[in-house]
Amino acid sequence: MYESQEIDSDDAREPSWIGLIAVGILFFLMGIAILHESPGVGLGFVFFGLILIIGSNSARKWVIDQEESMEADAQWEEEEAARTWQQDIQARQELKQREIDEIVKAVKSTIRVRCRYCGTLNEETANKCESCGGSL
Ligand SMILES: [Zn+2]
Repeated sequence: MYESQEIDSDDAREPSWIGLIAVGILFFLMGIAILHESPGVGLGFVFFGLILIIGSNSARKWVIDQEESMEADAQWEEEEAARTWQQDIQARQELKQREIDEIVKAVKSTIRVRCRYCGTLNEETANKCESCGGSL
């Protein structure tokens, strides 16, 4: 799909440049043909033809360069978008993992140990009962 669009734009572009170059060549040849009859007009035609040929040829190259650099930019943007998308997914996964960690931590902190002497609920990590001081 992408490639067929490219071919279409090439088809539309190329004939106009070739046409301009052909007109340039025509002027150049006409200038040469009438050069000894009227040198002033002949030289004018030759120069005009040359300018047309060189100008349209370099314009054609410039347009092609522009399109190539635009394609390169588009490709870079596509890659950048893919990279960003991947980073986004990674960031989401990390966020989810952090959320899970938080939940696990919260659940763990709510786990309490009942003292076997007085029945008080103590922190899981506590060594001694906070009420009676008995070892847990
Ligand atoms: Zn106790």
